[in-house]
Amino acid sequence: MLLIRNGRVLDPASRTDASLDVLLDSGRIARVGANLQAPGGAEIFNATGLIVAPGFIDLHCHLREPGQELSETIETGTCSAAQGGFTAVCCMPNTQPVNDRASVTRGIVERAATVGAVRVWPIGAVSQGSKGEALAEIAAMKDAGIVAVSDDGKPVSTARLMRQAMEYCDPLGLPVIEHAEDPSLAAGGVMREGPHSLRLGLKGIPSQSESICVGRDAELAGLTGARLHIAHMSTARSLEYVRQAKKQSLRVTSEVTPHHFTLFDEDVRYDTNFKMNPPLASREDRETLISGLADGSIDAIATDHAPHHPASKEVEFDRAPFGILGFETALALALRELVQKNKISLMRLVELFTTGPARVLGIERKVASGEPADVTIFSTEHKWTYRVSESPSKSRNSPFDGAEFTGAPMATIVGGRIAYRRNGPSR
Ligand SMILES: [Zn+2]
Repeated sequence: MLLIRNGRVLDPASRTDASLDVLLDSGRIARVGANLQAPGGAEIFNATGLIVAPGFIDLHCHLREPGQELSETIETGTCSAAQGGFTAVCCMPNTQPVNDRASVTRGIVERAATVGAVRVWPIGAVSQGSKGEALAEIAAMKDAGIVAVSDDGKPVSTARLMRQAMEYCDPLGLPVIEHAEDPSLAAGGVMREGPHSLRLGLKGIPSQSESICVGRDAELAGLTGARLHIAHMSTARSLEYVRQAKKQSLRVTSEVTPHHFTLFDEDVRYDTNFKMNPPLASREDRETLISGLADGSIDAIATDHAPHHPASKEVEFDRAPFGILGFETALALALRELVQKNKISLMRLVELFTTGPARVLGIERKVASGEPADVTIFSTEHKWTYRVSESPSKSRNSPFDGAEFTGAPMATIVGGRIAYRRNGPSR
């Protein structure tokens, strides 16, 4: 038993914002209320001055296992996730082998049950080998534990295959997650096309590469009525399509990464830690994404945690793989860029990390008795410096190394067990 004492409970599902105690017992939230009696033998967590939120969910990460364990493993990746306050993470299927069949899904689920610091919810491939030809074994993977499908790393290859995937997945209750990109426009590009890519002499990717694909998929969501989720959305035009789809009551949702609401193309230097896909967008795109996070048209913040072993990133910009670490800086960046700059409320921030992503998956997340005892406790005042060398991740590819932050996850509780607790002063 664990009694979380005197925290400020922020629960978007019930719009609760109050100083309350939360009692966890046998993997569930047993009681929520003021001045709860501590049952005999209960461990006490003093959360005075801290926020107590439902457990954070990350809809988008890469744990690299099986097959790329030099960059990350389920064990190291979930340790990093726990430090970031995440109680559950959805891992993309672009492993080796690709998670396109039940045996691979089961391997991930079993490994996570043994060594995972937090819950791991696998995402299955849309197509066999993510090759964009025939549908993968989606129903069998669903039985093995996948929560969504995606060919992330690349888009679903054709409109026809996307339609098939949507029609197949809808009765299974699985959203199709799209990495929106037109490969013919993006080919060879390493950053966003614009004046800054010209200045750096790097090949650009036009923003339309993303929005063309989002437009296509929104049309197909209209045709099929199925659930579509746009991953790591980065452009204003993509957001227009999403807003329009929502207005038509289509089941279209989207996520934005912390790096896309924090940085923009002019931040890119000859440092491969600024190379990601989609690339950092324009200043105007960034402002528009922040407005979407504020007004509810974007549903979730997702990290796209994409570890790459140092040797693979320490090459010329053109040759480096896309992607950066994301778990440990996500909350701090959201506090700094969104809450501390008065773009969104603290309640909305919690929603973007909890009930928002949960709804994308078709589940609920709240601080109420009977719910799973997944709780994220964080501070809005704790000052700290991010040192990537101290990360439990196997990789070091972050553009935020050395960044100073105000606000941090203080404890990550999964199924009633403390998976991570920040050392140092209690607030
Ligand atoms: Zn992607």
